[in-house]
Parts: sequence; structure tokens; C-alpha cells
Amino acid sequence: MPLTHRIEPNQAICLSSISADGKHLAGSRKDAEKEFFKLRDELIEWQCKLYAQGKQSLLIVLQAMDAGGKDGSIRHLFKGVNPQGVQVASFKAPTSTELSHDYLWRIHQEAPGKGMIRIFNRSHYEDVLVVRVDNLAPEEVWQKRYEQINHFEQLLAENRTTILKFYLHISKDEQKQRFQDRLDDPESHWKFSLQDLEKRKQWDDYMAAYEDVLNRCSTSWAPWYVIPANQKWYRNLAIMKVIVHKLREMNPQYPPAEPGLHNVVIED
Ligand code: AMP
Ligand code: MG
Repeated sequence: MPLTHRIEPNQAICLSSISADGKHLAGSRKDAEKEFFKLRDELIEWQCKLYAQGKQSLLIVLQAMDAGGKDGSIRHLFKGVNPQGVQVASFKAPTSTELSHDYLWRIHQEAPGKGMIRIFNRSHYEDVLVVRVDNLAPEEVWQKRYEQINHFEQLLAENRTTILKFYLHISKDEQKQRFQDRLDDPESHWKFSLQDLEKRKQWDDYMAAYEDVLNRCSTSWAPWYVIPANQKWYRNLAIMKVIVHKLREMNPQYPPAEPGLHNVVIED
């Protein structure tokens, strides 16, 4: 797998053959953290320009098993970024109003406006993950969604939204450890739900559902990245590298000043 962890369109993916460990992929943790902070400063600068330019948007999709590190990634990656230009949308089980519409209805409303970065903490992919694993819709309904999702993302991409999708890949052992840490720390109890244990029992079904997502929905306009996420420091650096690389490509610039600004004298 290339260092970027990008999944090529129609690449057959078997998650059990991809290591969730990142530590052998980087030098020391100290160097990785140093590089991460440097890149975060660069992200902060790009975000200012993206916002000022107001012509294009960036959508970052995060998916993972419970305790996979979605919240921690958001906290670390965007610390210090101007909150005015970055918004997070967290998708929970749909409300009755949301269920009365098509599954992309609530998603489309949260897509980023021009100049904005939008992070999806869970996303429309839940509609082919939990919905499939828990049989919340019949197979003939969710089977059609992979293609619908590709078309939907193409629509966004053709309207100047750059899309990056990250699957935070942790091992089942690592999940156990993180659950245990949450149980041992009263201040983390709020993060733990007994439902998480039910989902853990369905681990293999989820892996199969994720593999289909990765095989069928990594496109040139909205690629998936499988990020080894057992080590948080490696996860943070790997995601940050992809985002900053993409922002360099997007290359937003401050808009030109109004003509005549250099002659302006501000009166007392
Ligand atoms: P959390 O991210 O831990 O706050 O949990 C949110 C919950 O909402 C997870 O259990 C998701 O599986 C669930 N969820 C998100 N989107 C959907 C969906 N479209 N259908 C059913 N459940 C969903
Ligand atoms: Mg949870």
C-alpha cells in the first residue's frame, strides 16, 4: 500500500490483511509529532486563504468502529484553526423527520458552503454500514446506495467541493483496550454505551460492510484512505499529510485588493 494509504478505484480491499499499526511506517514518535505540528501550522494558513477566497470547499469524512478515534482526530487536527471556517457535522441515528426523506437529504444540507471546511463525524456511509449490518433496510434498498453515493459525491465535487474520506482502521484488540480505558475512567464513562458491545460482537459483519464501501466508493473525485489508527500519533500525522497535500493542490489564494487601496489614507 502506498504511504498515503489511498484506495484506488475498484481496488479489492481485505481489511484483515491491512495492518492497523502505523508505528513501523514512520520514524520516531517524536519526529512524527514535530512534523504534525508543522503541517498543522500550514493547515491553519491554508484555511485562512480558503475562507478569504470563498470559492471552494473541503469536505472531510471520518468513519470508524466505536473508539476508532474520530473525535480525537478532529480535536487534534483542527486545534488552532479558525472556528469560523470549520464546522463539524455529527450524524446520529436519523430522526423521524429525517427518515421520512431519502437518506441523503440530511447529508446534503450539511455539505460545506464556499470557503468552508466541513468535517463529517459519521456520514451517509452509515446507510450502507449500520443499516446493512442491522438489517434496517432490505438489501435491494441498500445495494443501490453505493452508486447513488458515488453520484452524490460527484455532484458535490463538480461544484467545487473537494472530498477526502478516511476510515480509521483499528484492530479488535485495540478497541478492547480503548473500551477498557473508558470503563476504568469515570470521566470517560459518557463515551461508553452498552450498545458498543453489541456492535463489537458484529465486528466481522462490519468489516465486510466496510470492505464493500472501500471497494465500491473510492473514486477519483472522492477517494477513501485507510489510515492505520492503533497509534494516535501516527493516525494524526497520516491524515494531516493527506489534508495538507490536498490543500496545496487546491491552492486557495487571498482575493485581490480593491483597486486604489494603496492610496488610502485613514482620516483621524
Ligand atoms: P456516536 O457516533 O457514538 O455518537 O453514535 C452515533 C450512532 O448513530 C451510531 O451508533 C451510529 O451507528 C448511529 N447512526 C448514524 N447514522 C445512522 C443511520 N443512518 N442509521 C442508523 N443509525 C445511524
Ligand atoms: Mg459511540
